Amino acid sequence: MRRAFINGKIYMNSGQFAEAVLVEDGVITAVGRTSEIELIAGDAERVDLEGRTMLPGFNDSHCHFYSVGVSLTSLMMLGCTSIAQCIEEGRRFIERNQVAPGRLISGRGWNQDYFTDENRMLDRHDLDKISTEHPIVVRRACGHVASCNSLALERAGITTDTPVPDGGEIRRDAQGNLSGILTENAIALLDCLEEPPTDEEMERTLRAAMAYAASHGITSVHTNDVKNDNAERMLSLWNRLTERGESTVRAYHQCCFTNIEGLRSFIDAGYKTGQGSDMNRIGPIKLFIDGSLGARTAVTRQPYADDPRTTGVLCLTQAQLDELVRTAHESGFQVATHAIGDGGIDMVLKSYEQVIGQGPNTLRHAIIHCQITDMPLLERFKRSDITAQVQPIFLHYDMQIVEDRVGHDLAMTSYAFNTMDELGIHVAYGTDSPVEDLHTINNLHCAVNRQNLKRQPAEGFNPAECVTLEQAIDNYTIGSAYASFDEDKKGRIQPGYLADFCVLDRDIFAIDTSEIMDVRVDMTILGGRTVYTRA
Ligand SMILES: [Zn+2]
Repeated sequence: MRRAFINGKIYMNSGQFAEAVLVEDGVITAVGRTSEIELIAGDAERVDLEGRTMLPGFNDSHCHFYSVGVSLTSLMMLGCTSIAQCIEEGRRFIERNQVAPGRLISGRGWNQDYFTDENRMLDRHDLDKISTEHPIVVRRACGHVASCNSLALERAGITTDTPVPDGGEIRRDAQGNLSGILTENAIALLDCLEEPPTDEEMERTLRAAMAYAASHGITSVHTNDVKNDNAERMLSLWNRLTERGESTVRAYHQCCFTNIEGLRSFIDAGYKTGQGSDMNRIGPIKLFIDGSLGARTAVTRQPYADDPRTTGVLCLTQAQLDELVRTAHESGFQVATHAIGDGGIDMVLKSYEQVIGQGPNTLRHAIIHCQITDMPLLERFKRSDITAQVQPIFLHYDMQIVEDRVGHDLAMTSYAFNTMDELGIHVAYGTDSPVEDLHTINNLHCAVNRQNLKRQPAEGFNPAECVTLEQAIDNYTIGSAYASFDEDKKGRIQPGYLADFCVLDRDIFAIDTSEIMDVRVDMTILGGRTVYTRA
């Protein structure tokens, strides 16, 4: 297949643009002026960009892509501004999907900080108002808290006598009755309610996520779908869609393990970073050291400013983390570890520094999130060349809580996206979707303007850490490509690179940065093939 994309404004590099690009068999073979490409394009199909701006396809460096599909096809409370609205959304979901009584309703996305009626978490009495005939489990936006209705508690066999799991809570109300709110490790008590999906349901779920990603100009994702117990099923799901030519996004699998036995059996099964094809590749071992800032489970070096009783919840000891990192490293696996608090980041850096030593970080070990930082921590990223996989869109919510949680001084050196770039740290942008929306343009807006999605505050939160648009695009394309060893074939529009593009409805480089949020993706192209066109 030969296609020539002509008459565009094609972003090649900061300040450098072309007009046209020639694609053959999924790969870029020439870039230049439209007149130059016309001379060599022959009978290639012409796609007239009509002056529009073309970027490399976006590459989300950390998301939970299958879960994106699940949330697209489940009860979504993201953006609800009251408990009453959550209840209404729940009722409508059941009505719209004609969910049979007895079937589990699962959802997520609520956040009590946005509620204007009552500033509290959803409890079972709220959810009983949605239905008493369906078990209902809805997770908070962060995923670290789950609320369930009375029927869900009953079906899961949770009573006031149920032993509380370590590292979790079964919360009670003032009278000592179950409130229906479970946190962290206690959430697993609800797993028994889930009915395993069929292969067909899983394909539908993944296709929903792919269509959504394409509508946002995403052509690659680093996705954390593979876990301890589902590697074979999840990888074969992706492979099936790829083989049928139905895949519209390239996947780099961050494979999540919580203990050494799980990791060893994955290694023994013969998996390794880099295995696979351009569509579907094994990525790093994904580990967790802490939780989230919103839930005060991120691990901090000092007690939380707004709750001095806690420094967060550690998922692994330093010794456990060291063993996992060393085992993965010695087997040739890249490692990417979730760390949000400065204490968690410090521990992960220590583990990495031990295996990297003085040498280069050839396996490109990375830290995902990197939110609460100070200058010495950031300098350690640079010194050992640790990639920072960050989510600028987290600012939308976190800017209103970060000072409360960690105090003003530490807040001012956190979410330090500009400092990371200035230090020359490898930075890769993503969204952690479905924690936040898989929304590329909003993510760019947050990086460049450091405003929330209501464009507040006007001057930006800690504006010294605003990044330029070019830098943000680069981090979101070539930066993410570096994190998967793909910087020679993804993230630039240059000969020899994969023909993964997105076309915008206006010139994002010419507008005021305050208008970035208004930009829409018109078209998404994967390997030269158009996989999305805006209606
Ligand atoms: Zn995540």
